[in-house]
Amino acid sequence: MIKPDAVGNGHTGKIIDQIISNGFRIVAMKYTCLSEETAGRFYDVHRTRPFFKDLVDFMSSGPIVAAVLEKNNAVEDFRKLIGATDPKKAEPGTIRNLFAKSIEANAVHGSDSDENAAIEANFFFNQFERF
Ligand code: GDP
Repeated sequence: MIKPDAVGNGHTGKIIDQIISNGFRIVAMKYTCLSEETAGRFYDVHRTRPFFKDLVDFMSSGPIVAAVLEKNNAVEDFRKLIGATDPKKAEPGTIRNLFAKSIEANAVHGSDSDENAAIEANFFFNQFERF
């Protein structure tokens, strides 16, 4: 997912370019908005964390781009491409290093396992099926 900060700052095209040039195939993509309710459901695992309310407010503050990406070893490779959650700790050249401003407004989301990738694909794309 390209988060509201990166979409709002005009970085969508540059981030998609990085994704494609690093060997990921886009198999589904949409430009949409999360409500507080859907952002809360997406980040349900963080519901008890102190930053949950701020995270939901941020994630529902503007448009996002959701995508399903395909590649061998996609989860691990995408997390390498995006860099650490906190952009101050993200390796030079990673998407968060290049485009993120803070630990919360950190430009992109990447699934943390194949299992969660399947759940998140279905969250955005009803009955998502691999082409
Ligand atoms: P990710 O897998 O790298 O996105 O990181 P997490 O799953 O740990 O956190 C989910 C999202 O919550 C992050 O991408 C940030 O947008 C936000 N977040 C994580 N940690 C913090 C924090 O300490 N403070 C705030 N405000 N937001 C955070």
